Amino acid sequence: MKPPAIVVVIPVYNEEPVLPELFQRLAAVFDRELGYKWSAILVNDGSRDLSATLIAEQHARDPRFELVDLSRNFGFQSALAAGLAAAASADAVVTMDADLQDPPELIPELVIAWRGGAEVVRAVRRTRSETGLRRVAFDLFHKLFGVLTDYPIEPNSGTFGLLGQAPVEAFNQLSERNRFFPGLRAWVGFPRADVLYDRQERAAGKSQQTLRRLVRYAFDGVFSFSYLPLRLLTYAGLFIAWLGFAVGLFFIVRRLLGVEIAQTGFTTLVTLLLFLGGVQLIGIGVLGEYLGRVYDEVKRRPNYIVKRKNRP
Ligand code: UDP
Ligand code: MG
Repeated sequence: MKPPAIVVVIPVYNEEPVLPELFQRLAAVFDRELGYKWSAILVNDGSRDLSATLIAEQHARDPRFELVDLSRNFGFQSALAAGLAAAASADAVVTMDADLQDPPELIPELVIAWRGGAEVVRAVRRTRSETGLRRVAFDLFHKLFGVLTDYPIEPNSGTFGLLGQAPVEAFNQLSERNRFFPGLRAWVGFPRADVLYDRQERAAGKSQQTLRRLVRYAFDGVFSFSYLPLRLLTYAGLFIAWLGFAVGLFFIVRRLLGVEIAQTGFTTLVTLLLFLGGVQLIGIGVLGEYLGRVYDEVKRRPNYIVKRKNRP
């Protein structure tokens, strides 16, 4: 039997300052602790610094480091998809960030969990690094996601983890454009295991995830895993229609009984008008979120375009 081959998939966007340490620590972990055949696929997601050059140079020195160079910045999810597609023949794929917040030294533990029978291994942080408003927003999102969908995700896990060959194949068959990795990882099923770790600070450089991107990512998560927002609108509509009927009936009966109606009620009218207008606009917005995503899917544009590959 030939020994299993492990591929590490790493999306890279402007990570020039951390790459040398990443190369060195990855090689050290595999060579020192694991006897497996391995390689690392670094997906350059349109970096504007010298990341691609550094990876190509590393490939020339040590061909186990491979470069998949995308034609522009497609975003983290697409870069990850490109890496998983390139790693299709691996026995197991480790997914991790380039910034060393996910310590390569944890990989042996992920591999042990996989050898123990788990096909999907998640690295779960003991502590979260976010504080303040971001922290509140993250917590809120995970609560909401748990309520809205049938696929609860572990609040303290990100991309870091390991996938066996079958889940990788399942991922590669998903053609959807708006990808939410933690949700999809829950969705594909398979026996799973969690490994605890302490999340590190970024080794260098700064986070590429702007708040806008994170909000978009959260929306992708909710809208691609739940119809509940649409259903809530239906319920709200039913409730308001029922209320309108009851109030209308009340006033008609009063009128028939001959009760005089005073010519006031301007405030009531304005409030009702604005409230209903707001509810309708929210409804259109929610519809639009789904419709826009449907449009994305229908166009069937590829998730990413590969410019070149430095691979054996
Ligand atoms: N990344 C990417 N494309 C992007 C943004 C980020 O491939 O458009 C990569 C980045 O190089 C890193 C990983 O995704 O390896 C996580 O990004 P970051 O550290 O900025 O996110 P955070 O850890 O703050 O969530
Ligand atoms: Mg990071």
